Amino acid sequence: MAAYEAVIGLEVHVQLATASKLFCSCSATFGQAPNTNVCEVCAGMPGALPQPNRQAVHYAALVGLAVNCAINRRSVFARKNYFYPDLPAGYQISQFDLPLCEHGYLDIETDGKSKRVGITRIHMENDAGKNIHAQGENASYVDLNRAGTPLVEIVSEPDMRSAVEAVAYLKTLYGIVTYLGVCDGNMEEGSFRCDANVSLRPAGSAALGTRTELKNLNSFRNVQRAIEYEIGRQQDVLDDGEKVVQETRLYDAVKNITASMRSKEEAHDYRYFPDPDLLPVEIGAEELERWRAELPELPRERVRRFVRMTALPEPEAEVLVQSRALADFFEAAAQQADARKVANMMLGPLLRECNARNASLAECARWPMRPAALAELVRIVDQGLISAKIANDIFGELFESGAMPEAYVREKGLAQISDSSALEAAVDAVLVDNPAEVAAYKGGKTKLISFFVGQIMRATRGKANPALVNELLKKKLQ
Ligand code: ADP
Ligand code: MG
Ligand code: ZN
Repeated sequence: MAAYEAVIGLEVHVQLATASKLFCSCSATFGQAPNTNVCEVCAGMPGALPQPNRQAVHYAALVGLAVNCAINRRSVFARKNYFYPDLPAGYQISQFDLPLCEHGYLDIETDGKSKRVGITRIHMENDAGKNIHAQGENASYVDLNRAGTPLVEIVSEPDMRSAVEAVAYLKTLYGIVTYLGVCDGNMEEGSFRCDANVSLRPAGSAALGTRTELKNLNSFRNVQRAIEYEIGRQQDVLDDGEKVVQETRLYDAVKNITASMRSKEEAHDYRYFPDPDLLPVEIGAEELERWRAELPELPRERVRRFVRMTALPEPEAEVLVQSRALADFFEAAAQQADARKVANMMLGPLLRECNARNASLAECARWPMRPAALAELVRIVDQGLISAKIANDIFGELFESGAMPEAYVREKGLAQISDSSALEAAVDAVLVDNPAEVAAYKGGKTKLISFFVGQIMRATRGKANPALVNELLKKKLQ
């Protein structure tokens, strides 16, 4: 059995979060009643004139800048001709010879090792509509709401060598486009989708083997499993002395297999030509510099900065950075309390409460609890107004109500008892109730101190200030 190396290149389609479609003013909103967001242009009526959406060009250029591409200040829309019922014009408007962005790269990390993946090009194109095959009705429908919505296609070099690297690349890219705010990131709705090209070659060989293209990969997990399956399948084909056929294969997530869909079409089949209805896309030098200056801090840099702020290990900082909104939440709270303690409060109780409620980490702007409340909770623990245990116990209530912690704690009478006269009575009562332990302690079993502390905590329902309890006990047990 020969040793093979896997070679993977990805084509990622990112739906741009513009209000309207790429070439008309129809709404690009997902989930409307079928065929309600349609006009002559996106329905492909002959003679209707497309008008480019400048916001889409702007968003596409931001993606290119974020992945280190050269931006072509002049790019050209081209017709890609093919027939499909959900493509009424009979062609898709895409970019071919002169795409908007070229020659970029993305650094990815796997197992703490960094690797650079080349990005060949990023072009703009409009999406097709959707065919709906009605079950049991023996009918198919076409919904054109999605027809004409703006996409960028990000084409990588065949630089990845494993399914794990492919997923790392996708997650990095996903983080970038959602941080840029140019994509809503909803993979179930198809806002971020990927085709994976997979081939094998003898280890050490420089030539590329014959590839297959895998479609229908709508989650990171499916990407990983489909590529792993396909590598195994091609390996079997080659081991049997046969040849891999260049084709498009569909991934079936239920059976976890890939199956042939169609043999691969070639670019010349599409008969690309510049769209005569559209002028080239021009971007002014100053405009491009303005866009470049708009780039926000991207996830990698933000993780590094959070590590510096909190001294937390990188994987924990990554949790805070997984959505831009969550990272903003952390940062807002960390300005008003100790950053490390804020981070711990988020990684512990906050994540726990989110999981319990199925609350999305990307939608923390909608949580009742605000960053100021989280920061106040950290501060009142720091100041000794409540114990860490009480903070943990009341977290769910605070998360859900959005109450400010100090007022909440005072109203519920949960403030720590830090007044020695008030605590003395509780300490005395515990000592009177446990004469045998008191005697044992005095006889040298000083470890019993934690037993007494536990009893006092129970009696005060966790409100006793532990340092003060220890101090009082030591004094009284002498
Ligand atoms: P097409 O547009 O016809 O799918 P491209 O030449 O644009 O073809 O390539 C698409 C993707 O396939 C790119 O991401 C590229 O890196 C990848 N690719 C090309 N050849 C191979 C190969 N032999 N093995 C794996 N990936 C490949
Ligand atoms: Mg392709
Ligand atoms: Zn329209």
